[in-house]
Amino acid sequence: RQIELSGKEQSAELEQLARAFNQMINRLERTFDRQKQFVADASHELKTPLTVISSYANMLKRWGRDDENVRDEAIEAISTEAQRLQNLTKSMLVLAEAEREDWLKLERFDLVQLADETAEMLNATFGRTIRVHTPKSDVKLIADKDKIRQLLVILLDNALKYSKEAIDISMQVAKGTVRISVADKGIGIPEDDMPLLFERFFRVDGARSRTTGGVGLGLSIAKRIVDLHEGKIDVFSKAEHGTTITVVLPQRK
Ligand code: ADP
Repeated sequence: RQIELSGKEQSAELEQLARAFNQMINRLERTFDRQKQFVADASHELKTPLTVISSYANMLKRWGRDDENVRDEAIEAISTEAQRLQNLTKSMLVLAEAEREDWLKLERFDLVQLADETAEMLNATFGRTIRVHTPKSDVKLIADKDKIRQLLVILLDNALKYSKEAIDISMQVAKGTVRISVADKGIGIPEDDMPLLFERFFRVDGARSRTTGGVGLGLSIAKRIVDLHEGKIDVFSKAEHGTTITVVLPQRK
């Protein structure tokens, strides 16, 4: 169908088109920048443990046969860094998959049961206590069950890593949404670092999370999962007092 435009209308249409076009270019540019930054950060993160491994391997070659202390130190460092590389590549693959997929495998399930199972699995693995607080009835949710499980594991795993006491996970239903909170009484997060938490590879303190094996990708994956579900994730934390992360998801039941 031919659209006849008068001179005035034509310029308004063109202007609108140009604006939409510019917005699209800006978005693409931002995406490219993010990807470039990701490759740069990822290379850096991979390089550090590799450098450590290679220098300890050289040390082993030179002095390992004669010096028992050198040998023990090198073996310990090499295995720690290799483990780190493993964690890193595993998280990077998970993130890449979460970013690539923009569809959800929706199914109806009981969140209470999922939280119970996840807490039980982590309690058995870490020998710690995760207390699950739930409403009297079950909490039915239509969402991607595997991704929600992954989200719970990320939040609970962080709470376990950065605190020593029991952890509480609770859920409430209100106005067609489900609110999930994971609370710990651990080391907390300094206020200045809050805005950066969901950035890829961000760690509050490199040294602090190095010992826990964290690579700084957990919360970016968590945020991606929440965004895909059109939900919201917030962090409340006080250094030295603890952290509570809340996720609000549409229940869609
Ligand atoms: P990591 O794999 O290092 O845990 P995340 O992306 O999951 O990465 O978290 C980013 C950083 O936020 C962590 O390195 C840690 O410093 C901080 N953090 C996350 N959760 C908690 C928590 N429950 N208590 C204290 N600090 C936390």
